[in-house]
Amino acid sequence: MLGPSGRMGRRVIELLAARSDMTLSAAIDHPASPLIGQTMAGAPVTSDAGRLAGCAVYIDFTTPEATEEAARAAAAHRVAAVVGTTGLGRAAESALASLEEVAPVLVAANFSLGVNLLLVLAETAARALGTGFDLEIVEAHHRHKRDAPSGTALALARALAAGRGVELEKVLTTARSGDVGARPDGEIGVVALRGGDVIGDHTAHFLGDGERIELTHRAGSRDLFAAGALRAAAWLAGQAPGRYTMRDVLGL
Ligand code: NAD
Repeated sequence: MLGPSGRMGRRVIELLAARSDMTLSAAIDHPASPLIGQTMAGAPVTSDAGRLAGCAVYIDFTTPEATEEAARAAAAHRVAAVVGTTGLGRAAESALASLEEVAPVLVAANFSLGVNLLLVLAETAARALGTGFDLEIVEAHHRHKRDAPSGTALALARALAAGRGVELEKVLTTARSGDVGARPDGEIGVVALRGGDVIGDHTAHFLGDGERIELTHRAGSRDLFAAGALRAAAWLAGQAPGRYTMRDVLGL
């Protein structure tokens, strides 16, 4: 487990400890973590990414910097990776691209069944409704979240763009302020709310003339994501090198 002292890492380890088909080999955290030197679920907490050697698979809920470092260490030992860290950026993406040449890699902005079904429904709706409907996403998360918009909101935007058959980068807007003028045709907007202890809410709005559709998912517990990541890890270990998604795991 990479990031064992975090909000997600703690939940993953607690759920893992209750399973009989998995054992925790190592818990790898930031050198400044107060847990270094302790044990979690029988495994030592260390800052040494070399402890990935010998693991069948690792689960990563950390930061883009940690994701990059671990992916490079994992490539040396061909360890499968389940990555939930969001807001990755180029350096981490490139380390994961190198890893997937020698091991199976699954990156998911969201591990819940409901959100992955929402992605499928949103893509279908965007395709069926066509350009007469304006597409907007609103997401809300707790006050500690680092990245915005959320990885899930961007995955949802990507699903809408795929439904329309357009490239997301050409139509995405994440900020409107001042005299921005009328809404350009085909734009996909994403708005991020931050505050309180919201675990994660996402709504795709389809705004037409005279009618509107809203598809919403609300996460009520981090256990959704932790259990989904463990399910992905069990599925991924033993797969051929390459890139996989939660759609593969869930058969959606
Ligand atoms: P958090 O801040 O509570 O935990 C981050 C953890 O990473 C901590 O244990 C920290 O010590 C560790 N860390 C930082 N630098 C490290 C390094 N260099 N090496 C090893 N460990 C390091 O954050 P969180 O709320 O648990 O979220 C973590 C990430 O997971 C975020 O990117 C968040 O957006 C994402 N997330 C994804 C999903 C999903 O379903 N995919 C769900 C929730 C959160």
